[in-house]
Amino acid sequence: MQELIEQNSMGNNQGQTQSVWMEVRLPLFSSLNSNINADVCIVGAGIVGLTCAYTLAKQGKNIVVLDQGLIGGEQTMRTTAHITWALDDRYYDLESFFGEEGSRTAAESHAAAIDYIEKIVREEKIDCDFERVNGYLFTAPECSKAVLEKEYIAIKKTGMEVSQVKNAPFSSFDTGPCLHFPKQAQFHIAKYLDGLVRAIVKYGGKIFTNSQVNHFVDGDTCLVRTQAGQEVTSRSVIVATSTPINNRFIIHTKQAAFRTYVIAAPIPKGSVPKGLYWDTADPYHYIRTQNHTSDSSLEWLIIGGEDHKTGQDDKIAAKYDDLEKWARKRFPMITSIDYRWSGQVFEPIDSLAFIGRNPRDKNIYIATGDSGNGITHGTIAGILLPDLILGKANSWQALYEPSRKTWAAAPQFLKESFNIAVQYRDWFTPGERKKIESLAATEGIILRKGLNKVAVYKDNQNNVHVQSAFCPHLGGCVRWNPGEKSWDCPCHGSRFDGCGKVINGPAIDNLPTIK
Ligand SMILES: Cc1cc2nc3c(=O)[nH]c(=O)nc-3n(C[C@H](O)[C@H](O)[C@H](O)COP(=O)(O)OP(=O)(O)OC[C@H]3O[C@@H](n4cnc5c(N)ncnc54)[C@H](O)[C@@H]3O)c2cc1C
Repeated sequence: MQELIEQNSMGNNQGQTQSVWMEVRLPLFSSLNSNINADVCIVGAGIVGLTCAYTLAKQGKNIVVLDQGLIGGEQTMRTTAHITWALDDRYYDLESFFGEEGSRTAAESHAAAIDYIEKIVREEKIDCDFERVNGYLFTAPECSKAVLEKEYIAIKKTGMEVSQVKNAPFSSFDTGPCLHFPKQAQFHIAKYLDGLVRAIVKYGGKIFTNSQVNHFVDGDTCLVRTQAGQEVTSRSVIVATSTPINNRFIIHTKQAAFRTYVIAAPIPKGSVPKGLYWDTADPYHYIRTQNHTSDSSLEWLIIGGEDHKTGQDDKIAAKYDDLEKWARKRFPMITSIDYRWSGQVFEPIDSLAFIGRNPRDKNIYIATGDSGNGITHGTIAGILLPDLILGKANSWQALYEPSRKTWAAAPQFLKESFNIAVQYRDWFTPGERKKIESLAATEGIILRKGLNKVAVYKDNQNNVHVQSAFCPHLGGCVRWNPGEKSWDCPCHGSRFDGCGKVINGPAIDNLPTIK
């Protein structure tokens, strides 16, 4: 059995901020240091990669997981872990894109994902605070109440259990009428990943962290190569990197990257009833509680929202303040905000994830386009992709097919394509007026250098790092994210640390250094 090393620092590949989940230290593994062979090679150790690994390893498959950083160190450890079939995008939209049958399959597959998580928790005895809770959708003051009625009718057609209630059970503010969804769920994501990892190792799976992959070859035998030059040959490959790093173009025209913000406040236990809560604002707010880590008289109130397109909002500093203002108005029991973090989600133009064979490939599979439902979408991937690889029929396959063309979503496709085209204006605009000498430590600016633009970063030792500002994926000009101290590409969501090292796909390479 593979050796696990207990970690003694918070797990975080992705940025400056820490989430409440990072208090739990996940196991470490060594990096890959020789060529190996497997039945399935999985790239990425978030919810998608680890659930696929678990399902396959349990069925006796020889699996290898490679991650460029730590277990769950990217979006999965930045989630808020609402586990629900009450999707971010409305069922009446799903119905217009995929018909009543598609909408029903979406609801059923997400409900099955919740059941699968519950089954894994039970069978592997994972102590991760998993519990079934009610979900409530309420209207934001500026939104029409008719949305709830429309959504209610659309959900009823899926056959799922939903009811209309007078309000959500908050005593501190009146939400007004709500949709009520019984038997949703929540858990502590880091404790769940910890249990998954230990089960994968128990079933003979091999995990390698700090093993960045930068080359894929598809075929009857696939090949994956790490940046350090080690190779894994396998019958199949799953690219579970949140957004696929092996797919240069097709998928990235069908989804958009968004940054979303979260705060966590300690509150007296029981002062906010357990449940998952969402409003209909755009961007919407999402709320839940979670057991406090060290004080049993308290719990965390976790509130998210304030989403915007990655790299396309220059008021990042105000996002946490706006979220806090919204929260304090409704939950006066908040005394302090102990955690602030942000993360990235990918919104598909037709509201559902892309899970299946990578378009034009034979044995390489992807899972992406989670919206804010990546825990269930990721678990659906953990059921569907193993079925496809093992040649088992799965009735969800067509709905999640990555090469699908959803004609009813053509207006969204055109809107997204236009938005991306507009971002390329940065090729022609001047650089910032600031001088390098005036840069504060851990600050970045974009400067023009002849026909080029450069991304200049001063680290906390006052060393200046200069790299090309053009994203190696498709040439978008990166923008500085002062919250996470990263360079973010507004076109497809690639991200780089201050020194230009790639931390988020679809880019696979670093920003080129300029001497
Ligand atoms: C703030 C926030 C709140 C959210 N709330 C919810 C919620 O309440 N409910 C819900 O269902 N979903 C939620 N989501 C969405 C959900 O958390 C994500 O969609 C999901 O965690 C993505 O999982 P993943 O496995 O696809 O990606 P990740 O967790 O990002 O994992 C990808 C892995 O791939 C690795 N990787 C990347 N590139 C390489 C490479 N070149 N070589 C090797 N490894 C590589 C990374 O290191 C990483 O570990 C939220 C997301 C955010 C950001």
